[in-house]
Amino acid sequence: MKRKHYLKPKKQRDLALEKITLLFKEAISSFKTDPKTADKNVKLARKTAMKFKVKIPLKFKRRFCKNCYSFLLPGKNCRIRTNKGNIVYYCLNCKGFTRIGYKSKISSKK
Ligand SMILES: [Zn+2]
Repeated sequence: MKRKHYLKPKKQRDLALEKITLLFKEAISSFKTDPKTADKNVKLARKTAMKFKVKIPLKFKRRFCKNCYSFLLPGKNCRIRTNKGNIVYYCLNCKGFTRIGYKSKISSKK
């Protein structure tokens, strides 16, 4: 059987998305008691997203650091500032900034 390089079947991608959602939910609930598990879940969710070529839902995208991929909990290991319509996440783990612009649409062409 030949391997296809197209997008994975929708059913598979839906399942992947479900898994990602579950992983992030677990990360959120386990962070307080076990931050390492939360980080692991984020990494697993990212891997799943890449494998099945699905996008991580926006609401979860904001829950991890784009530099070190650790799970972020505002007020705990991350600080949030807004700056001219941009949300800036300051990760206390790697001291890196993650900028999330919700006003600028430079990169998204839709
Ligand atoms: Zn970080």
